[in-house]
This record gives sequence, structure tokens and C-alpha cells, in this order.
Amino acid sequence: MKELEVFRKIAANPFGYAGEIKKSGKKIIGTFCSYAPEEIITAAGAVPFRIFGTNETITRADAHIQAYCCSLVRGGLEDALSGRLGFIDGTVFPHTCDSIQRLSDIWRLNGKFNFHFDVIMPVKLNTQSARTYMCDVLEKFRRELQESLGVEITEDKLKASISMHNRLRENLNKLYDIRMTNPGLISGSDIHSVIKAVMVMDRTDAAVATGTLVAHLENPKQGSLKAKRIFLSGGACIHPDIYSIIEESGGVVVGDELCTGTRYFEGKVSENGDPVKSIADRFCDRLVCPAKYFSNTARGDELLDGVKKTGSDGVIFFYLKFCDPHSFDYPYMAEYMKKADIPNMLLEIEDSSGSEGQLRTRIETFISTL
Ligand code: SF4
Ligand code: SF4
Repeated sequence: MKELEVFRKIAANPFGYAGEIKKSGKKIIGTFCSYAPEEIITAAGAVPFRIFGTNETITRADAHIQAYCCSLVRGGLEDALSGRLGFIDGTVFPHTCDSIQRLSDIWRLNGKFNFHFDVIMPVKLNTQSARTYMCDVLEKFRRELQESLGVEITEDKLKASISMHNRLRENLNKLYDIRMTNPGLISGSDIHSVIKAVMVMDRTDAAVATGTLVAHLENPKQGSLKAKRIFLSGGACIHPDIYSIIEESGGVVVGDELCTGTRYFEGKVSENGDPVKSIADRFCDRLVCPAKYFSNTARGDELLDGVKKTGSDGVIFFYLKFCDPHSFDYPYMAEYMKKADIPNMLLEIEDSSGSEGQLRTRIETFISTL
């Protein structure tokens, strides 16, 4: 499908793509988390670039950070210290998990990038004071970004950026709906490539390319796939092979609540009223992550809603090894699934080079029980 080529190419070589962006004169702001305020970065004329860890052996990072931090944090630092992220002008660190907070300090001291932004967001998101505070820290980030890049982020630019990001989110939501209804139309690894590419692309180009893809898929030419329907729950998925392993084992991913998935694009920013307040409101209202708090039941309820909406037969909790926030939430999330009689399993992987044989056996066994 030619509409997918652009995404496959960028997902396979995001650094090469970033180099091309750089040549066009645009600034690139690195991000580690889906709480990075991308609308503000885009409104400043820069491109938010999601850092995913590394495929290279980790050597330099171990001198700065414990080996029991997740591979996303260690891999990102390795790429920074080795100069592979040299195209980045600055990095934004939203206040989320402990590993990211410590990484921020190490990055500032050792990363040698021009700009560094900490966005100290509230942890608890369910109060009016949290919304006000979220709004204030985003305003502060807007001011800092303006000064660093020497641009004015006007209200009109912010509104245009919000509208474009909403279009992009709408396209990704439609893409997920298409896969949910007819999972045979697009493979899981292609969906992964789309999301991974979108997270590093010039977002205006991404909105156009995802629109073209969705328009093509809305006229299906194939029948639906008969397979066990799987829902993925977790953080950043940096193991794209998981999708083909699931498909080869008789399953198909029909939905997720991943940071490299629904948590990234779920929820629209209001296009009326104060734009920064609207961005803050979305962060407070969208799928909550385990490094934040909304209520004692929010994460379980959201997972259950996703499983029911997608008609999933089972849930795979897919975590990066040493990811404390997700691991701490796991017993409660698994209990939630047990009470609702939804089969589930936990997979923890170290990085994208994990043992495929073991992973395949465990997935095959789980799917055969559904
Ligand atoms: S789990 Fe939370 S803190 Fe970690 S990347 Fe996702 S949104 Fe960010
Ligand atoms: S939330 Fe988990 S996977 Fe994401 S950076 Fe923190 S520890 Fe790593």
C-alpha cells in the first residue's frame, strides 16, 4: 500500500528524517513522554521529536545512570552522549516518572544541547487547582520556548497549531477505528510504524499523510481477519515485532492504551477559549498514565472501557523492564481484569533486542487459551 511507504521509511530511519528537517532550517525539540506539549512546540515553528531509546549497545549511559532504569531512558541517554541526537536543539522533560526526572538532570549537565526545559506538571489531575497549575506551567514553557528560539508564540499561532494537531489526532483515531472494525486491513506493525513516524514528523505533513492513509482505508478491498482480538496495555512500545508475533500466533491487536498509541492521540483540545488552558485541560482529561493520578479507579475503568469497545478477547500488559510506574499499577490492573473475567498476561521486555523465541512461546500459549 503506497500510502504507508512514507511512514515505514521514516519509522525505519527517524534520525535520517530529522537530518532532512534540520536542513530545511527548522528547530527540533526532543521529547520523551506523551505529556510533552506538542501544540506549543509546533506553534513556535519547531518539530517535536520523540526519543525512543536506542538500537545500539549501551556503554556511555551506564556511567551516569543505574543499569536498573528502563531501556528507554538509558537508550535515549546513550544516543545523546554518543552524538546521534546531535540534530536536537533542545529537549523538554515533563515531570512524570522518577527515571525521567533524574534523566532530566543528567541530560542538562551532560547532553550539550542548546536548550533544556523542565515542565513541572501536577501529579494529581482531578482538581481545579491542578488545572490552574497545569495551565501556569504550560504558560511558563511557552515563555521559555519563545525566549530560547527567539520567536513569538502568538495566540493565533497556537490556535492554528491546536487545530492541526486535532486533525492529526482525529486521523489516528479513525485509523484505530478502522483496525478495530476490520483488523485485516492493516497489520499491527504498520500501525506501529505510522504512530512512530508521526511522533517524529513535521506534524503538518503527518496530518496530511495520515488523512491520505485513512481515506484509502475507508474503502476496504479485503474481508475481515478471523483471529483472537488482543488489547495492549502499557507504556512506550519499542518492540515492533510484538505485532507480527501476535499475528503469527493467531491473534491480532485491535486496540491499546500505550504511550506509543492511544495515550498519545486520545482526546481533543478545545478550539474555543484560551489555547493554553485548552491544552492543559486535555492533559488533565485524557487517558491517565501511571505516573499521574486521577482517581483510584480511573486507569482500571479506562482499560475496561477500551477492552469492551474493541471487543477484545484478552489483554497483554506490555511493559519495559524496570518501568516502576507501570509495574506498581500492574497488580491493581490485573485484578480489575480478573474481576471482569478478562484473560490477561504480563510481558516485560528489556529492549527491542529481547529474546524473540521466549516471547513467541509465551504469546502463542496465551492466545491458545483464549
Ligand atoms: S507512562 Fe506516563 S510518564 Fe511514561 S511515557 Fe507514558 S505518559 Fe509519559
Ligand atoms: S514511564 Fe516507565 S517506560 Fe516510561 S520512561 Fe518512565 S520508567 Fe521508562
